[in-house]
Amino acid sequence: MAMITLRGIPASPGVAIGPVWLYQKAQLAAYEEQSRLTVEAERRRFDDAVEQARRQLDMLYDKTVQEAGEAAAQIFDIHKMMMEDLDYLESVEDNITSQLYTAEHAVACTGQEFAEMFAAMEDEVMQARSADVRDITQRLLQVLTGGQSQTLERSSVICAHDLFPSDTMQLERGLIMAFVTELGSHVSHSAILARTMGIPAVVGVSGLTEALSGAAGTIVVDGSRGLVILNADQQTLADYTARREAYLQERMGLDAYRDRPSRTRDGLELEICANIAYVTDADNAAAVNADGVGLMRSEFLYMNADSAPDEETQFAAYRAVLEKLNGKRIVVRTLDIGADKVPSWLPLPPEENPAMGWRAVRMCLDHQDMFRIQLRALLRASYYGRLAIMFPMIGDLNQLRRAKALLEESRRELEKEQVPMAEKIEVGMMVEIPSAAILADQFAPEVDFFSIGTNDLTQYTLAADRLNDKVADLFDSAHPAVLRLIQHTAQAAVAHGIWCGICGESAGNEELLPFYIKAGIGELSVVPGKVLELRRALSNIDSSSLYGSFLSHIQISEPTPRTTHPFAVLCLKKKN
Ligand code: PEP
Ligand code: MG
Repeated sequence: MAMITLRGIPASPGVAIGPVWLYQKAQLAAYEEQSRLTVEAERRRFDDAVEQARRQLDMLYDKTVQEAGEAAAQIFDIHKMMMEDLDYLESVEDNITSQLYTAEHAVACTGQEFAEMFAAMEDEVMQARSADVRDITQRLLQVLTGGQSQTLERSSVICAHDLFPSDTMQLERGLIMAFVTELGSHVSHSAILARTMGIPAVVGVSGLTEALSGAAGTIVVDGSRGLVILNADQQTLADYTARREAYLQERMGLDAYRDRPSRTRDGLELEICANIAYVTDADNAAAVNADGVGLMRSEFLYMNADSAPDEETQFAAYRAVLEKLNGKRIVVRTLDIGADKVPSWLPLPPEENPAMGWRAVRMCLDHQDMFRIQLRALLRASYYGRLAIMFPMIGDLNQLRRAKALLEESRRELEKEQVPMAEKIEVGMMVEIPSAAILADQFAPEVDFFSIGTNDLTQYTLAADRLNDKVADLFDSAHPAVLRLIQHTAQAAVAHGIWCGICGESAGNEELLPFYIKAGIGELSVVPGKVLELRRALSNIDSSSLYGSFLSHIQISEPTPRTTHPFAVLCLKKKN
């Protein structure tokens, strides 16, 4: 049989090789639509089913707390709340009372209606609730019809058209090698659960079920690259076996760093934070115990919507992230659309050079109504944790001052409305345009922090389009010119007593770590999957022995003892 490689969305990293187990939802016994019982009897059947489903959800909650932690288990609390939601209950009861439906048909109709309603919502988080409604509806129907779920009897790769969180959690954890689904996105709850439990997963694999029908029993899953291979030949199997071993070795060593501080061998503490795009990514940041979120790319709230998200939607999103990170600092970057990030609802005029065009704060300052909505939402959310606000693509002081003035106006507006807000919110800027790096000493007195965006800083400094693979070899974030700008920016921050971090991709470049430390960088923000690796690399460095020799083109001549590292000095000052 020919080898088949299918591509999907990499939902949870890791490699698995094992037998396919095709998951099918519990077969529901056929049921009648019109009831033959009295309304009271039918309602009692429904009440009993709700009671039983509630007990099942409690059990699933406890099991998930054990296997994936409390954050992951919350979904079953949410299911309970949704099932007990008055609108949902009243709708079912109304179907029983006025339509004389059986409890089964009444639940199915309400489930359908509510799932469609959520699916039609603009907010991505609310859309995802549609799957949750279908999940609780399926549970109630299963209780009412006495349907049985399949049981997993040996270690297998779970393949399914779609998987609900409760499907996932009622399987025996120790027997699940990986998940592969035809539907789903990286924000679907099953994907989140897979990541949280460290099980490799690929979702959104179109053609999966059809391909499985003509394949032999073993499947290879590459959750890191989003690949699924059926009928793998001997060489491919051997390659993936080696890859799996290497991955497991690596993970085992890394897990130990989850609960260790982000500290050099000689005790210098830095912050290793996570970059996130979606609210649910905050779970990944929390799972690796990141020291905070160094960059929330808020534009993703705008990208996956039919129109600009309103104040309430944004407020709920920022608040949710703050609560998930439980007191750690979250740096939310204000809207950075334009260039390669254009929402479908915002038809931008074509530009010759969009990366250098009308984008980010430049656009926000021209679209103040839209910008104010975001600023209000951020200020309101600040009450629920440690929020910092960061402006992207700042190129001159005037832009920074105008953005800050709008923030101040929004604060005064909310004060008048007596809306609670945090008293102190750190306000910072991205340093990603060379002019900002060069004039960092002029910006530093006006902000609480800098975060260097090495992706854009590199493309603008080297005139190498970050999206053009033909100039990819010119795009080098370790280029001396870029490093000098980083050093210059960090020095200006140090001189003005503010902290300076890096949130571009090269924050995760372990080879540059000694240079960053030496330059006075205090925070590095990377994708959640990189946090532990970077923390481990940091722990192997002795900061007091860092001389300039490792990067000769950057003039660093003196060792920095831990106690005089600018970030340590700053932290000490704050403590006292
Ligand atoms: C950067 O430019 O380095 C950065 C972090 O922002 P983005 O990648 O979103 O442009
Ligand atoms: Mg950028």
